Amino acid sequence: MVKRVFPVILFFLIISTLVFCQSGSDPTIKQRTEMVRTQIEARGVSNPEVLSAMRKVRRDLFVPEGYRFLAYADRPLPIGFGQTISQPYIVALMTELLDVAPGEKILEIGTGSGYQAAVLSCLTDKVFTIEIIKELALAAGIRFKEYGYEKIMWKNADGYYGWEGGSFDGIIVTAAAGHVPPPLIQQLNPGGRIVIPVGSIFQVQYLMLIIKDADGFVSSIPVIPVRFVPFVGAAMEK
Ligand code: SAH
Repeated sequence: MVKRVFPVILFFLIISTLVFCQSGSDPTIKQRTEMVRTQIEARGVSNPEVLSAMRKVRRDLFVPEGYRFLAYADRPLPIGFGQTISQPYIVALMTELLDVAPGEKILEIGTGSGYQAAVLSCLTDKVFTIEIIKELALAAGIRFKEYGYEKIMWKNADGYYGWEGGSFDGIIVTAAAGHVPPPLIQQLNPGGRIVIPVGSIFQVQYLMLIIKDADGFVSSIPVIPVRFVPFVGAAMEK
């Protein structure tokens, strides 16, 4: 009897766990699953951890209320102060290019809504993010606390100079600069990666993957043309 009942109980336990993990009380899981399938996997992003992070993080919680109905659409959205949250595919692509391993230290420049940082925090517990607009930095800080991303370290500063005293395995920049800020290259560990859009708002911008090898030699690879808001602050004077 026990022998027969046990597999049945086990079956229901597994099913209930799956159902709970995938939907729980979250009404948007279906939209996110569709988003990942049609916008992200369909365009070639295949890293399972990245896909799982994109399925987990509720993008609707990071966009202004008036835009929530578009939270899973294939497009960037305004987040105030003339800034935007990137298109989901771009977030996934940049995260995949960054090639994050658990425990690695990652720095993001351009916190914006905090969505990209939240996605990164599913891949490692050491995420640092810098935002130059005070109101956006503070609002993202509140979201991190409210939605369970309190491990993310954030600050309001000019990201041109990186994180004072920091050294990182990966740096992701979500605003387009005319050049790669030298302090970011300095703060990159050997073997580290920088993913950054390079170009101005008047020119074509290219998403670049910059790699520092074990000997400290730096090389860069253009990935795709992109369109980002400008990297402001000190970068504009140099
Ligand atoms: N990663 C964001 C998208 C942000 S848009 C998200 O997931 O929502 C780019 C952001 O970069 C803007 O919020 C802008 O204010 C910020 N930014 C621009 N120049 C910056 C600088 N020098 N230092 C830090 N943040 C900067």
